[in-house]
Amino acid sequence: MDDCIFCSIIKGSLPASMIYEDKDLLAFLDIQPVNKGHILIISRQHKELITELDDSILSRMFVLAKNIDKAIRESGIKAEGMNLFLADGKAAGQEVLHVHLHIIPRFNNDGFGFIFPEGYEKRPQRNELDIISQLIKSHLV
Ligand code: AMP
Ligand code: ZN
Repeated sequence: MDDCIFCSIIKGSLPASMIYEDKDLLAFLDIQPVNKGHILIISRQHKELITELDDSILSRMFVLAKNIDKAIRESGIKAEGMNLFLADGKAAGQEVLHVHLHIIPRFNNDGFGFIFPEGYEKRPQRNELDIISQLIKSHLV
């Protein structure tokens, strides 16, 4: 994809501080880190959503994330926790429309986090949860 930042990194026409590369995946430092050591794992294939990606590549992304998580913790960056975050679609906050998994080192009170919508505090009734679970279950392949 000509106008994709991550495809340009793959082609080598944009710079990246690379951590890992193989035939399917790359990992490099995020240009605007939430915290030091914030890394992105991307697929070599240009796909926008995870449902378009091969299952084997998607699975390997998470195994690589685990290995990078360990490497960050052992590197001296000393993360107190780690977020794995993947925005799947624009409405979910995806800005670069090429599948990528964030690995974000976290520290107590580092100021990063989710904002919850109004009314979040009120839990739905069990029957409402059951209806939703049945609906999703019936579409699970
Ligand atoms: P998202 O909002 O989940 O699509 O995240 C996109 C991420 O890509 C952001 O955290 C950006 O800081 C990061 N990003 C954008 N351009 C570059 C780049 N040239 N090199 C590394 N990371 C980038
Ligand atoms: Zn791309």
